[in-house]
Parts: sequence; structure tokens; C-alpha cells
Amino acid sequence: MGVGFHSMGLGSSSGGGSSGGKRWQLRELASKEHLDWTIIKRVLKAFIPYRPKAVLVTIIIFITSIGGVIPAWLTQKIIDDGIQKGRLSIVIWLTIALIATAVITGLLGVWQNWLSNLIAQNIMADYRLALFANLQRQTVNFFASRQAGDLVSRIINDVTAIQNVITSTLVGFISNLLTITATLILMFEMNWRMSLLAIIVVPGFVIPTQKVGRIRQKLQAETQQWLSAVTVQLSETLGVSGALLIRIFSRESSEEKKFALANNKLRDLQVRQGLIGRWLFMWLGMFSSIGPALLWGYGGWLVINQKMNLGVIVAFTALLSKLYGPLSQLAQIHVNILSSIALFRRIYAIMDIKPQVEDGPVTIPANSVRGRIELKDVSFSYRNETNTDDGKLALQEINLTVEPGQTVALVGPSGAGKTTLLNLIPRFSDPISGRLLLDGLECRTLSLESLRSQMGLVPQDPFFFHDTVCNNLLLAKETATQEEMEAACKAAQIHDTIADLPLGYQTVVGERGYRLSGGERQRLAIARVLLQSPRIVLLDEATSALDTVVERKIQDALSFLLKGRTAIVIAHRLSTILAADKIIVLEKGKIVASGTHHDLVDTNPLYKKLYETQFGILHE
Ligand code: ADP
Ligand code: MG
Repeated sequence: MGVGFHSMGLGSSSGGGSSGGKRWQLRELASKEHLDWTIIKRVLKAFIPYRPKAVLVTIIIFITSIGGVIPAWLTQKIIDDGIQKGRLSIVIWLTIALIATAVITGLLGVWQNWLSNLIAQNIMADYRLALFANLQRQTVNFFASRQAGDLVSRIINDVTAIQNVITSTLVGFISNLLTITATLILMFEMNWRMSLLAIIVVPGFVIPTQKVGRIRQKLQAETQQWLSAVTVQLSETLGVSGALLIRIFSRESSEEKKFALANNKLRDLQVRQGLIGRWLFMWLGMFSSIGPALLWGYGGWLVINQKMNLGVIVAFTALLSKLYGPLSQLAQIHVNILSSIALFRRIYAIMDIKPQVEDGPVTIPANSVRGRIELKDVSFSYRNETNTDDGKLALQEINLTVEPGQTVALVGPSGAGKTTLLNLIPRFSDPISGRLLLDGLECRTLSLESLRSQMGLVPQDPFFFHDTVCNNLLLAKETATQEEMEAACKAAQIHDTIADLPLGYQTVVGERGYRLSGGERQRLAIARVLLQSPRIVLLDEATSALDTVVERKIQDALSFLLKGRTAIVIAHRLSTILAADKIIVLEKGKIVASGTHHDLVDTNPLYKKLYETQFGILHE
């Protein structure tokens, strides 16, 4: 059963916890990431469509960074050239300049924010689409081996995190670097001794910030992992199937313990994060007073000895914040960049998954084939799909020809490979060897859409989207009229049932909609294929036993479906088998016999046994 005991997968790290066991294995920490240039280059490539905007953002950041240090310079001029020398006009003009600088840099800041947001949102939209499109190209088996929740989380959460990378990490990196450069130039321009004094204090800022940044990053990554563990547990235990499983095995209290473990971990991590922030604030607060104190002391001595003007001290104390703030932010940026790389690595991992089945180049119109199907020496292995072929074949050297209009019934014990064989025809998977031909055309050369438009599939447990009956039918033929739909449903013996639904054809069915019974779903799926009216029909019959009325209805629906069409049917019902032109008996991935019912009952012991135990008795 797939209740995700493998769900967290990947790596083992902190906090296993004895009661949690395998389910609490956490992902690798981002702190183990390294500076991967191929990923950085690829991230930068995403900006190419938005190059003009990106260049503009850089220019604006350049201007605002310079604009940020101008007030300090103006202040120095006001004090030394205006106030000290008693020249009012200079004071007035420089005050106006101060206000103008503030207004202009403020406006430019808004513009820059808007632009970088625009770029970020565009790149996020591009990535979401690319991820979704690539997932649409994957085979059904791909989804059988993945957790849907994990894929959803990558498309939604990981991509959303890109916003932060662009608007804060990337923009922050450029603007901090420019601000520091502009500040240092201005400082050294005014007084180099004072500048050196200002820089002496820097390590006191940078080192603790960097340390705290690393610890906080680690705590955050750990928090993220526990959060995701909790999310997985919630989605597994709060769903109907999971809830059922837990109650059957009386796992309520152990699930509660598991939840409590994660819950406590999260609490402790939050407390630690809160505390470490406090210590840093205290430390930084202390140092941001020490810097100016030193400047006032040394600067005061210089002014008294008339080696420097008073304004310079004032300007320097103002400039200190332009130096220390950006420097401590830059000190943390290394960690941010690494976690951004980890983020993009996760995104690219999904974006780069190669589809197992490749599209072919040849297109042909829908329903244009006569319907001759040939399988030549076809072998298939599921292991091949994960590239760890251990030689176990789900199908071995299958040779089968279905003539146009013929019905071939596949029978065999459970696990014989019937569904696997059926899934090869529409190329849900490709065989590891052998050939598949449709009307003599190599199936691999056809485009998947062309190939699949030739055939209709009625799966064993048909699925319907959470939508109206009408819209679920329209999937098969977008242009179908109400009359066509009703005709198809009448032929499939489901029209009366639909007409009795609260809103008729407008009733919402499917996942969380109106519940149709197994037999009704089967017939609705048959109606859907009738509407599509393909030359080829692939049918995986339901195994459930039916009462005689429903049995009769299904039989009528099927005779409509199979008439005049090429059909491969995984048969579980005697009437279907008797109606088939040829019966293929599969066992352990091999064809062990073929012929009509009467041939096989007498000659093949396996078929005789299947007949007696599975499809014989029910319908006599
Ligand atoms: P049938 O339809 O005849 O009951 P299947 O075609 O479903 O049998 O399965 C044939 C064999 O392939 C079985 O041994 C089954 O365990 C294996 N199998 C089916 N689906 C998968 C899958 N997605 N991944 C790996 N093995 C699979
Ligand atoms: Mg099956």
C-alpha cells in the first residue's frame, strides 16, 4: 500500500526520533550547497527576455546608491561652508538640494521596486509554465512513482521563493556593493585617517552577523523540513484513505505521537531563532554606538587642533550607517546565494526530467486508420523506466496481430501483464525491444497526439474531473452537440441514469462531485469513447461482480462499443469473451495460448481454470 513510508526520501540528517522511524527522514540541508556556476549561469539566462528592464534596474540602483551618500556630503557642506562661515544663501540652497535628493531617490526606489518585482513575477510565471509543461509530457508511470504533493509544492512553493531571490538577494547584492563603494570613496575623499578609524570597527559587525546568519539559515532549513514533514503527515492522515488505514490498524495514538514530535521540534526551533536574533541585536546595538564614539573622540581632537572641519565628523557619523548596514548584509549574502542555488537546483531537477516516451514527427488525422494493430517481439520492463534493469520482464516477446474490426480478448491471472500490454498500444510506455505497428506504420514515428486520436480507452476504474457530466463527455469531442451526447449515452445505457441526476447533464460528478457507482462510471466512460468514435477501442473491463440488470446494460453498451471497431479487451466477463474473435491467454508476461473459447477450454488447462474460477460461474 502506498502510504508513503518512503515519502520523505533522500538523505538522513538530524532529528530521526525513535518513534518517527523512516517517515521523519529529512532532506539534505542547504548549507551543504556549493557555488555552482552552471546553475548561476542558467539563472542569469532566465533574465534574457527581460534584459532592457534588468539593465534599467541596475542603472537605477546605481543612481540611488550614490543618492544615498549625497545627504552626508551636503550636511558637511552646510555645516562647514554655510553655518560656520555665516552664509545663509548656501544653507538655503543646500537644504533645498537635501530635500530634492530625498524626493528623487525615494521615487527612483519605488520605480526600481516595481521593475524588479515585474521581472521576478515574469520569470516565476515562465518557470511555472515550463515545469507544468514538462510534467504534462511525462508518462503515467512517472506519476505512479511520485508524490503528487511534492510536485505541487515544487511548482507553487519553490517557484514563489524565486521572488525573494530576485528582489532581495540579487538586488540587495548589487545595491549594497554600490552603496559601500560610494560611501568609501566619499569617506576617503573627506579624510583618510577618519576613514581608517571607521573601518577598524567593521569586523565587530561583520563576523557576528555572518555567524548568526549561518546559524539562522540552518535553523530555518530545519524548520522548513519539519514543516514539510508535518504537511505530508497532515495530507496523508486527513485524507479519506489515510484516515481509514489509521483506524483499521489503530494507529491513532502513534500518529499523534509522531505529530507531537514534529510539533515540539518546530516550537524549539522557533524559540532558538527568536533568541539568536536578540543576541545579535544587542551586539550590533553596542557596536553601532562604539563606531560614532571613536569618530567623535578622534575627530574632536582633529577639529580642536584645526586639522579638520566639524562638518566632517557629522558627515562621517551619518555615513557609518551606509557602511555598516550594507556590509553586514553582504556578510550574509553568501548564505542567501547558496540557498538560492539549492532552490534553483530543485526547480531544474523537475524541469530537466526527460519524458520516457518521445513524440514522433509524423502527423495523421484523427480516426484515419483502418485499425490493424501488430506487435512484433515486444518485451517490456518497468525497471527500464528507472534505468536499473534487473532483467525482470513484465512482457516477453509478445507477437500479436489484430485485424481491422476484430475483437481480441486478453485473459490471464492477476499480474500476468494484461494492463501493461494494453498500455503499450497508446504508447503510455515504450517497449524495451520489439516493434509496434498501426496499419503498417511504425507507432514511434507518429506524433503521440495522432496516435492517441485513433483510439479510445475505457480504463478499469474510469476517472472523471470534478466537473459536469457534459464537460466530462466533451473531453472526447469538443464540438459534440447535446443530441450527439445523448445518443452516445443512450447507446452506452447511461442516459436514463444521467437524466435522473439532480441537474441532468449539468450535474457535477467526479472527484468530489456526485458519486457514480462503478458500473455507471464504466458506462459513462464507454459513452465518452462512443462520442469520440475511434476506429480502435482499448478496454480494461471492471472485475466487480454485477447484478443481472446491470450486467445486461453493460453487455448492450459493450456490443455498441465494439461493433465494427478494432478492439483489445482485458476481459473478465464471459459474454465479452464469447463475443471475441480471438482470445489470448497471458501468463507471467508471455502469451501461452490463443484461440476461441471452445478451442481453449479443451486444450489449455490455465484457461480452463480461469474459466471455472473467474468468468464461468457468474452468468450461467
Ligand atoms: P494485470 O493487468 O495482468 O493484472 P499488470 O500488467 O498490471 O498485470 O502487471 C504486470 C506486472 O508488472 C506485475 O508483476 C506488476 O507487479 C508489474 N507492474 C505493474 N505496474 C507496475 C509499475 N507501475 N511499476 C512497476 N511494476 C509494475
Ligand atoms: Mg490489470
